[in-house]
Amino acid sequence: MEKADNRSAYEKRLREVHRLLNRCSKCGQRDAYVMAGRALCAGCAEKERNYRRQQYQQNPEHVLLQNKKSYEKAKQNHVCLRCRRPLPQDRQAMTCQQCNQISSQRRRERQARNINYVSKTEFIKTHPDICTRCLKAPRFLNYKLCEKCYHDSVAAGQKGREGRKRWNTMNF
Ligand SMILES: [Zn+2]
Ligand SMILES: [Zn+2]
Ligand SMILES: [Zn+2]
Repeated sequence: MEKADNRSAYEKRLREVHRLLNRCSKCGQRDAYVMAGRALCAGCAEKERNYRRQQYQQNPEHVLLQNKKSYEKAKQNHVCLRCRRPLPQDRQAMTCQQCNQISSQRRRERQARNINYVSKTEFIKTHPDICTRCLKAPRFLNYKLCEKCYHDSVAAGQKGREGRKRWNTMNF
């Protein structure tokens, strides 16, 4: 039993070191960021997310229970729910200022995307002669784009075609 305790203490210490060095706690790669108390690199975080999604699909109650448990634990220890770093004594929120900033920024970005998306399709429906790309200028000739956007997209297409041509003529 003692051995197992030592092992988990060691792993805990290792995770702390990784976190301090901003290294992924799974593969040790640099440039990791902290998610639910564990530092993960982008690749491992993606895997972790997929794994969790899969778990949730298979057994949602179990995952919700786990989430609730970790919430309770974070609350008890007065640590940030996301990064598990200790919270300042007087902080009422469940996340530290840093994590709070990150999540509110993400939320804002998401909202902005949704609003743009909805209003854009609505706007196009009600303004059939406005450029569908910038929504600012009238359309050019018979295209759905204004003159500037038309040229931009032609240039972008040209680039893509050149890239493909290079790819096709490459010798392997
Ligand atoms: Zn990793
Ligand atoms: Zn935090
Ligand atoms: Zn335009």
